[in-house]
Amino acid sequence: MHFVTFSILVCCSLGLSWAAGWNYPDLENNKDAPFPSWGGLCDSGKRQSPINLEAKWALKGKFDKLKFKNYDDEQKNLDMVNNGHSVQMNHFNDDMVLQGGGLGHEYELEQIHLHWWSEHTINSVRYPLEVHMVHRNRLYPNMTVATSFKDGIVVVGVLFHVSNSPNAAIGSIIKNLDDVQAYSRVNKPVTVANSLAVSDLMPQTLGSYYTYAGSLTTPSCAESVIWIVLTETLPVTLEQVNEFKKIEYSSGKQLYNNYRFLQTINNRVVVLVDSDHRTGGAAGRTASFGLILLLAMAAQKLFL
Ligand SMILES: [Zn+2]
Repeated sequence: MHFVTFSILVCCSLGLSWAAGWNYPDLENNKDAPFPSWGGLCDSGKRQSPINLEAKWALKGKFDKLKFKNYDDEQKNLDMVNNGHSVQMNHFNDDMVLQGGGLGHEYELEQIHLHWWSEHTINSVRYPLEVHMVHRNRLYPNMTVATSFKDGIVVVGVLFHVSNSPNAAIGSIIKNLDDVQAYSRVNKPVTVANSLAVSDLMPQTLGSYYTYAGSLTTPSCAESVIWIVLTETLPVTLEQVNEFKKIEYSSGKQLYNNYRFLQTINNRVVVLVDSDHRTGGAAGRTASFGLILLLAMAAQKLFL
């Protein structure tokens, strides 16, 4: 019996059809709905995301400034797709690169998507929206390869707080939603007509963030992500967030929520970075993501 169960798991976690079959619980119609099992690393992993980011449990860090190269550029070939799990934007201009901070490599912007409500919580508080800017380590030729390395991907998370003032950048994304929201439009990209600069989706303060070693928050849940969650949040109205809930993931079924439930930290170190931009942060110059991994190992020894 156990062998049969095991065989089914192996078969289905390798099959492409499995990847299309995962879902979020419909919390709109049942607020106590359990989170479904997604299988594979999603169930068995030890450095899964998202997590609660708690200032009082974080280690204080100082790094060089993060450098976001060409994030002010207007996008020329951007498209948007309802992939049945989120709204995602692809085909950003070439040469949009994130480096610096505690990162040991250059990371290229691959895609941006949104979660409603937020996946990460800060000091146990959930936010109405979280934008994920997914970057690939330039050492690796594509996302598939990058997901098999522990430093393969950097995701920058930007959280939004409830406000009376609509957010202009989120507004320009919403303008395109009509064209992708129906179930019949799933996996059919549309060109984004209006201009959008990625920096419009980012706060002023880029030197203050939580960073930790985690995973993709959707299957395969690969444990290849260095997370950078910015502490400054941006305003959004609940009316704007409700526009995203009109997205359909199945015939006549709306994607009311697409956040994964919080995962166990498992002795991982979360570093709260507050970089000193006036001096360039000389003290942090030699620090790297390797340091975070070392700290994680040291913490494990302490707890064992
Ligand atoms: Zn995401």
